[in-house]
Amino acid sequence: MKGRFKRTASQRHLIGMKTQVAVLCALVAVAKPPPAVKPMIDYHLRVDSTDLSGWDVEIRLRTVTDTFRLAMAAHPEYDDRYFRHVTGFSVTPSSALVTRVDSSVWQVITPRGEVRVRYRIVLPPSPSPSPRSSWRPFLTPTGGLVGGPHAFMYLLGAEQMPVTVTLELPASWDVATGLASPLSGTERGSGGEALSAERRGGQRVRAFTAANAAALMDSPILVGHLRQWRFVESGVPHRVVYWPLPNATPFDTTAFVSGIQRLVRQALALFGRAPYREYTFMFEDGAFSGGLEHRNSVTLGAQSAELGRDPYAVMRETAHEFVHTWNLMTIRPAEYRDIDYRTQPPVSSLWFSEGLTIFYADLLLRRAGVPVSDSTRVVHLERQLARFLGNPAYERFSAESISRVAYNAEPGALGDYSAGPHLHGEVLGTMLDFVIRDASRGERSMDDVMRLLYARAAQPLTGQTIEQAVETVCGCDVTAFFDTHVRREGALDYDRYLGLMGFRARVTWAPAVYNGEPERDLRIFGWEPGDGGVRLTILHPGSIWARAGLHSRDRLVTMDGTPVTTWPELRVRLQRLRMGDSVRFDVQRPEGRFSTTVVVSGFERPAVRIEGTPNNMGQAWINGRD
Ligand SMILES: [Zn+2]
Repeated sequence: MKGRFKRTASQRHLIGMKTQVAVLCALVAVAKPPPAVKPMIDYHLRVDSTDLSGWDVEIRLRTVTDTFRLAMAAHPEYDDRYFRHVTGFSVTPSSALVTRVDSSVWQVITPRGEVRVRYRIVLPPSPSPSPRSSWRPFLTPTGGLVGGPHAFMYLLGAEQMPVTVTLELPASWDVATGLASPLSGTERGSGGEALSAERRGGQRVRAFTAANAAALMDSPILVGHLRQWRFVESGVPHRVVYWPLPNATPFDTTAFVSGIQRLVRQALALFGRAPYREYTFMFEDGAFSGGLEHRNSVTLGAQSAELGRDPYAVMRETAHEFVHTWNLMTIRPAEYRDIDYRTQPPVSSLWFSEGLTIFYADLLLRRAGVPVSDSTRVVHLERQLARFLGNPAYERFSAESISRVAYNAEPGALGDYSAGPHLHGEVLGTMLDFVIRDASRGERSMDDVMRLLYARAAQPLTGQTIEQAVETVCGCDVTAFFDTHVRREGALDYDRYLGLMGFRARVTWAPAVYNGEPERDLRIFGWEPGDGGVRLTILHPGSIWARAGLHSRDRLVTMDGTPVTTWPELRVRLQRLRMGDSVRFDVQRPEGRFSTTVVVSGFERPAVRIEGTPNNMGQAWINGRD
């Protein structure tokens, strides 16, 4: 998503200035007040069960200058731009002068002293088709997801100050979040749950703290009728929380929680220690099975109907987001910022942050004895390699180039190619694992690279720090590998690396088949840039669409003579096409109109068989040993 709100240079300058604001704790009317007054920013979030269209936020602060600015943070990966849903922004004293100096920044000029800022977040209509994404906020009569960048503004210039958060919720609702309880010692609940709860006007009041603005934004809050389990691994408390729909399907919660605990045990065995003091898994019924990682919590979709069929149904996604706790949140890309309201700039090491996360999600589940979809690591690699070799983008673009367009770039950023850092990184990571095992005669593996990068996590992650870590572990030179695949593009000589373990790959191409039928070449999709039309994205330069002369970013005018203006409309018409059909496309380009006829046909896809007799190192890799 590109910024639709252009900022002037002077605005950027103004916003970038550190605002000299200090704040003092306002009276927190809950629990026991802190023994000493210390600087604080105090947030109150209220959910009223009679109006679930959104929630009210009040920020209480004391200022020492006449001007301060509040901003809505942008998440680096999923910037939902909730500044669009802020309503009723008001300030007490009412004489304050409020200016919206940027789409996501409010400036307040008022005499220094106690100031209260109030606004309401009005939730956008739930997206169709459902289910929704697990990280998107929602409210229902039995609970919802609040907090984070979808709820709270932060004070520019005061990002490092601790804050308090008070939740006023319907009386029967529980709370799960990575935020800490303000209570200490024996009164402190594990998993961030405040044991202090006060009832006020039929509402239940809970208090939490965050060490700084980044921690506040990184801590979504799951509220409502929750099921909860706890376990301790390596002395660290973990909490598993499930928010069920009212008509939830029963499932085997013992297997569900034990699978998570076994995963946690394996992750702690790999990395040696946890980067958090306590961790909260937050699962939501009714959300699709993806998730969003945080420093000490995660939100994940987990539909009870799926868990009823298989209690391990969301373990792959759970493992992925949990590995991110180390590889992304702690071993942090250099381009990542703690907190910002501006769009995340491109991140060149995402191939490692995503690819090695997938690599370890698969491996840790195998080590944990949790059922996974591919029967063996060999079968898993065969499938990944087939997808990799079937997509020429991975030869045409470097891992860093593909990483740089993974966030906040328009579709079609790679021209008539489409690729992601996940698969690229998983395949390159596997090849590097083979290099390390071979160079160290089976003494070392990628596990040692992860441990080393974790030990060096204070150093921001770049291609160079990854390369140095691999070289330190293997005692070998991987410059050529990084030159050919990470920094620059080139074909992967996979047999050279497979050969180090005693393997070789047999690659065969055959017509693609789906559900037993020849598969139509639908390697095209559309997207709506927001100007009322639909643009094309060509996914493969060898597709029937590219060969007919169409290109990514062409603006679709008509299909068989009739206008098409939305992606759902285009998708329906593409799905109706049958083998041998002819379809006429009229598109608009900056240089003029272009018309072409596409004849629908099938396409070829590679299959990979890994053959040969593994040597001892290959056998250790198959067995998932380090
Ligand atoms: Zn990920």
